[in-house]
Amino acid sequence: MNIGRRIRITGVVQGVGFRPWVHALASAYRVGGVVWNDPQGVSILVFGESRTLDTFVEAIRTSPPPLARIASITVETIPYEEHPHFRILPSQKKGRVEVAVTPDAATCRDCRQELLDPSNRRYRYPFINCTYCGPRYSIVTSVPYDRPNTTMVDFPMCEACRAEYEDPSDRRYHAQAICCPRCGPHLFFTHADGHRCEGDAIKLAAEALRTGGIVAIKGIGGFHLACDASREETVLRLRQRKRREEKPFAIMVRDTEVAATLIDLPPSAIPLLESPEHPILIAPRRVGIEDAIAPSVAPGHRTLGLMLPYTPIHLLLFAEGLTVLVMTSANLSDEPIVKDNEEAFERLRGIADFFLLHDRRIQTRLDDSVCRSGRERPVLLRRARGYVPLGIETGRIVDRILAFGGFLKNAPAIGRGSAIYPLQHIGDLETTLAIETFEETVKNFQAILEITPSLAACDLHPDYPTTHLAEASGLPWIRVQHHHAHLLSVMAEVRQYERAIGFAFDGTGYGDDGAIWGGEVLVFDPSSYDRVFHLAYLPLPGGDQAAKEPWRMALAYLHEAGIEELWERWLPSSLHPKAHDLLSLLHSHLPQPRTSSMGRLFDAVASLLGICHFNTYEGKAPMMLESLVRFDEEGTYPFTFAGSAIDVHEMIRAILRDREAGVDPSTIAARFHRTIVMIMLACAREIREKFSIRRVFLSGGVFANAVLSNWASESLQRQGFEVILPSLLPPNDGGIAVGQAIAAAASRAGVA
Ligand code: ZN
Ligand code: ZN
Ligand code: FE
Repeated sequence: MNIGRRIRITGVVQGVGFRPWVHALASAYRVGGVVWNDPQGVSILVFGESRTLDTFVEAIRTSPPPLARIASITVETIPYEEHPHFRILPSQKKGRVEVAVTPDAATCRDCRQELLDPSNRRYRYPFINCTYCGPRYSIVTSVPYDRPNTTMVDFPMCEACRAEYEDPSDRRYHAQAICCPRCGPHLFFTHADGHRCEGDAIKLAAEALRTGGIVAIKGIGGFHLACDASREETVLRLRQRKRREEKPFAIMVRDTEVAATLIDLPPSAIPLLESPEHPILIAPRRVGIEDAIAPSVAPGHRTLGLMLPYTPIHLLLFAEGLTVLVMTSANLSDEPIVKDNEEAFERLRGIADFFLLHDRRIQTRLDDSVCRSGRERPVLLRRARGYVPLGIETGRIVDRILAFGGFLKNAPAIGRGSAIYPLQHIGDLETTLAIETFEETVKNFQAILEITPSLAACDLHPDYPTTHLAEASGLPWIRVQHHHAHLLSVMAEVRQYERAIGFAFDGTGYGDDGAIWGGEVLVFDPSSYDRVFHLAYLPLPGGDQAAKEPWRMALAYLHEAGIEELWERWLPSSLHPKAHDLLSLLHSHLPQPRTSSMGRLFDAVASLLGICHFNTYEGKAPMMLESLVRFDEEGTYPFTFAGSAIDVHEMIRAILRDREAGVDPSTIAARFHRTIVMIMLACAREIREKFSIRRVFLSGGVFANAVLSNWASESLQRQGFEVILPSLLPPNDGGIAVGQAIAAAASRAGVA
């Protein structure tokens, strides 16, 4: 029977080649009709044999185009109409387009084939892209997402490209970044002084990398510093020049085959590595890979951060026979990534030996995204390229709320309607450049969303730069407690807003009482929270200095536990003079900041085990401690409660006893992790008894720790708790802006 269907599709369905794909599908099924973009997404009218139409709809549902993310499909039956063809109608721009710009996507399979096909007119062209792949958000200057509103405006299309662009059956139909060797951007290779080298830029760069050079490579959202990852002296030189003493470098490898020789690569992680997002995956490194990976790539780490080539430039480099490269963001320590050619020569002077550049401008800085595999889903640790500017549906009215985020690992967020749009990782707001990047990014994003904020949300901390920016924004502003925000961001991911148990474990967050919180157990919902348990306070000797120097925390814990006389046996003698000063400070009863930070407890234990006395980068000590854990150890240490305070002095004493008895540090590290899990279980059980709540949220930077996250969620689930961990947003401070927006929305609704 001939019939018609009206199909409405919402989600990320615009700017991802959805209409040409539907057109091709309709041709394959020989059905007539029309497709068009509307403000909510894509609409289709299709006519034909009823069973054919059912399989047509099923095909849309089960295998949409690679970059599409379907949120909903509704299908209505309508009367049959005669349509000899299937046509794409021009977009209707009534009202607001839901998804104006999509994320940058890694080079797709088809483009990879064309890139290496000598008969193709884009053979070895380093800017090949199509409707399904290539730069997007990073090149957009305003909306709508059309070529004149991207940095591709500098490159007028040639006739051949225009023909493809206008042909609905072509796979580059409406590909806004379409280009070819005749009309598009070009690569060039220079010395550090800017002098251009004659010859094939890719071959020159590959040769420089092969012979131990450090090459700055312009990518999608900024520059990378690249070098051969197997050459220790080269990697060491890069480390010295970059002033990045110990923080691990990410690597890029030729393909999954090479990846599998370097890390434990579960089959489930391969689709993630190869996804359009192409993030860096942090995974356990294999043993015996010293020949392939120089020790200085990730000193002292049991893991490696690894990604696959995601631009034609990368692919061409690896086609020259390279297999493993260091590919680290081009910046000094935690500054924003370098994006412009001129800026590169200036900021990377003395770091890069050569530059592989091109003449396509980068509009928006974007770092590589970073994730690690979780028990059920991957966990994003840094959300940037490939993910931004996708929104998250919150089910709450967060319209026109601008959330400023935190201080370190800053990433703001903007609400529109009930969707929240987390912006990319900007970094630590410690420099003028970082603050400028913050402002630039927010402004650009407001233009893309076509939104003017009406309410600001920021951290409770009085001295965060973001707090000052929020106050100076001219908007009414709401301050949100740091750990409340951490937990609310996870709530928003799953849209479950009933009062729940929250473990917010991190390094530093300003508390209601002015103390530095960070080991918090809350019972919370969007409008309020009770702080039911927390790590017992102890002095944070020297304030911020204590966060950078774990040995100070170790000493503070010994002092509190009444066993400070043991300090000389565990602290290296070089630190003894400073330790004397610190002890007299602790005895002086001068007012010290007080903290309940879980991150600082991890610091202290790492120092007591002698594995890390200085955090040369944020989170180093806890990472080293996690790296040590042996999985077959099941022992735990004692702890007690004093009212709402969790007292770990017994544990500290037991750890020192173990050390004195010569127990292996990896056993102690495991027992320590197990003890934290026991503490969580004890808290959760007591709350369940008292409040009858069984849903548990985990958030905060401490849950970047895979061992703790896995053990805690396993144990809690076994005890009948429902456990929810962050997945779309980072557990660290990169995720808090969304939580700030949710709290601000609740408080605005409460006032109205
Ligand atoms: Zn493509
Ligand atoms: Zn062209
Ligand atoms: Fe935090």
